Amino acid sequence: MDDPPRLPRYGHYIDGQPTPPASGRHLPTDDPWTGTAWAEIARGDGADVAAAVAAARRAGTSGPWATLTPSERGRLLWRVADLVTARADRLAEIEQRDNGKLATEVGAQVRYMADYLRYYAGLADKVHSAVIPTDKRGVFAYTRLVPKGVVGIITPWNSPLTLTSWKLAPALAAGCTVVVKPSEYSSASMVELAALFGEAGFPDGVVNVVTGLGAEAGAPLVEHPDVAHIGFTGGTEAGRRIYEMAARGMKTVTLELGGKSPNIVFDDADLEQAVKGVVSGIFAASGQSCQAGSRLLLQRSIHDRFVALLLDFMRDVRLGDPRDPRTQVGPIATRPQFDKVMSYIEIARAEGARCVLGGRARPDLGSGQFVEPTIFVGVNNAMRIAQEEVFGPVLAVIPFDDEDDAVRIANDIRFGLAAAVWTRDLHRALAMTERIRAGTVWVNNYRATSFTSPFGGFKDSGIGRESGVDAIREYLDIKCVWVSTDLDVPNPFVRR
Ligand code: NAD
Repeated sequence: MDDPPRLPRYGHYIDGQPTPPASGRHLPTDDPWTGTAWAEIARGDGADVAAAVAAARRAGTSGPWATLTPSERGRLLWRVADLVTARADRLAEIEQRDNGKLATEVGAQVRYMADYLRYYAGLADKVHSAVIPTDKRGVFAYTRLVPKGVVGIITPWNSPLTLTSWKLAPALAAGCTVVVKPSEYSSASMVELAALFGEAGFPDGVVNVVTGLGAEAGAPLVEHPDVAHIGFTGGTEAGRRIYEMAARGMKTVTLELGGKSPNIVFDDADLEQAVKGVVSGIFAASGQSCQAGSRLLLQRSIHDRFVALLLDFMRDVRLGDPRDPRTQVGPIATRPQFDKVMSYIEIARAEGARCVLGGRARPDLGSGQFVEPTIFVGVNNAMRIAQEEVFGPVLAVIPFDDEDDAVRIANDIRFGLAAAVWTRDLHRALAMTERIRAGTVWVNNYRATSFTSPFGGFKDSGIGRESGVDAIREYLDIKCVWVSTDLDVPNPFVRR
């Protein structure tokens, strides 16, 4: 029996319809600022996933979607981008209520999502296949790029719509159909976004959303035999489990995982500029960002001076209500994540690192799910605070001697998502970009990303790339067609 709703309720979105969960069960979704539930989402399971995958499969094989030209798909994507622009305030408000990020940041992210959709709308009819020159006479070969089929998209809570659009836009441009499983902490915005696809004219079943827990709704999606590709963004541990499940079903994957990225400041850098880059690298979004610059590598000769500049910059930082435009640092998005960040602060202290800023929770603010921006000095790269992803506003400062030492420390880690180098010496900057093993390397800036440029990780930070022209190929299979130009079929017992 379904329990009576106390709060606004979000169902799944399956086959073009808001759909209640088969089990009748729901989960609360909390506002991290107030610490109380503001809505409920459907607690999906294998039955809901099966219905969504069946709808996606039908839409991809027999519905009108299957016969649209790439240009027609592009026009639909453009239309949904216009709807996202028109409804950006509403989408941002819901997403912000779920994950507690600064309202200004979420608003900008949602508007930028429309640009992602437009980029892939334009790309849909510009992906060329090839006629292959071969070494055989009497035949010619060409390739066809065919949509992989049903794509499962699984995303985290920190930037739900942005990270979903990184997969959704190229998958749809390629002609695939999708089932999205957003984070159980921030699903509402995705359910509302899905309805916009219907409004834009996407055929039923092309975009489906099943909400719920990773183990109950995410795992059945990964394991479903009719899902061809999994696009996942989240933590490295969940990513590894998903990769193993996908391997059993011979599915392809794109995995965007965790990071522990070094921000490397040399003594010849413009230190005032570097301070701003370091702060935005680790304290934007309260450090809840995969690309957070959570290791600050400082050349020994400027170590104390730079730390003093950093402390000076951070002196008047305002924590508070993320909806207040004056707030600079908001809450931690979930209670378990808050506990995790606080536990790492204890770990760092126990390892002998010295806290020079923050290090405390702020129970006096809102729900109390606040961690002060925190800086540890005296860190060496072997410590857990230097090696493990905290996903919070905690910076580990590590001194280095010279370029070789900086490269050794930067690369001595299992992650390889991003890195930045701060120096005025062009030769040094380029040499460092060559030697650092990371998917993105910034020179004298931090955080620049675009729908035009590939993003992804080396090592445990992931597999595959998102954004840019090539990302669409993650959603396409290559078929090679051989056509005889010679009416005479050769004798099968004589090799030519
Ligand atoms: P998470 O790994 O706990 O969860 C991510 C998603 O996976 C959620 O939707 C969750 O329900 C689902 N999930 C969890 N276990 C699953 C399973 N066994 N099977 C199927 N689905 C499962 O991550 P999170 O806490 O939501 O987000 C934080 C993590 O995301 C951080 O590690 C961060 O670095 C990473 N992240 C990476 C990027 C990137 O682009 N590289 C971007 C943002 C966040």
